[in-house]
Amino acid sequence: MNRIEIDESYCKGCALCTQVCPHQLIEMSDQLNAQGFMPALIPPAKLANCTACALCARICPDAAISVFREIQPAAAISNA
Ligand code: SF4
Ligand code: SF4
Repeated sequence: MNRIEIDESYCKGCALCTQVCPHQLIEMSDQLNAQGFMPALIPPAKLANCTACALCARICPDAAISVFREIQPAAAISNA
């Protein structure tokens, strides 16, 4: 399964990632992080819909988001 990880210690709560995700998977926490910002989060139940497009990671000005794409096994090559 694709997944993203948001390091809330780097997040300044700008919400750019919530706006760029084409599937609206990212939300803002109602809890403050150590810097006093409300960080972005992705609810675990929404991870299954992540396409690993990495738009959220690319727009984040603080490099707080890492994207992990599941690698599908290559299909067997037939010589028939
Ligand atoms: S990788 Fe793409 S689909 Fe997944 S949370 Fe980020 S913007 Fe959304
Ligand atoms: S774009 Fe980066 S800094 Fe802004 S809310 Fe999302 S994770 Fe936090």
